[in-house]
Amino acid sequence: MSNTSTGLRIVHYPHPALRHLSKPLRRVDAELVSMIQEMFELMYAHKGVGLAANQVDLPYRLFVANPEGDRQRKDQEFVFINPIISQPKGSADAEEGCLSIPGLYAHVKRPERVTITAFNLRGEEMNLELDGLFSRIVQHETDHLDGKLFVDRLSATGQMEARDALEEFSLVYTSRQERGEIPSDEDARKRLLELESLRT
Ligand code: ZN
Repeated sequence: MSNTSTGLRIVHYPHPALRHLSKPLRRVDAELVSMIQEMFELMYAHKGVGLAANQVDLPYRLFVANPEGDRQRKDQEFVFINPIISQPKGSADAEEGCLSIPGLYAHVKRPERVTITAFNLRGEEMNLELDGLFSRIVQHETDHLDGKLFVDRLSATGQMEARDALEEFSLVYTSRQERGEIPSDEDARKRLLELESLRT
């Protein structure tokens, strides 16, 4: 094949994929591997440090990350398949953003340190104890796989501050649906369930 692009795109709030609770992945095939490569490309193109499958409209329990955000740092590229977070310790407050809600940034309180267990692309189990930015990334991305967004975790004040921006995203989204540029919520959900039945 001359064209290896699988045509993935980052979906924006309030796309239903962002509320999808992903089931564990049972099969990693060549097509999925090329989708994961494309997720890295999209993440770098949008200057992100993590990207969950939900964010490219895929119902799979995986995310990619590079805490350096630098495509030259291949040693910092991680694929987390079926991640489980445990042993949260401490508390840290820091600003977060999300490629699915571009332009919105807000402070989120999370455990400072966590342990994450997941499989990599070679099928090996990884066990990482993380703190700082990397800890925050894996918590934010694992939330995505549970259909959760960082705006769900804001303080009451933070939610009030984010409300107008989120309403604006919803208005834009609905009007694009009305113009037929993007699928209805019902069609989007149907597609997710079809893809899910292929690999979970
Ligand atoms: Zn995000």
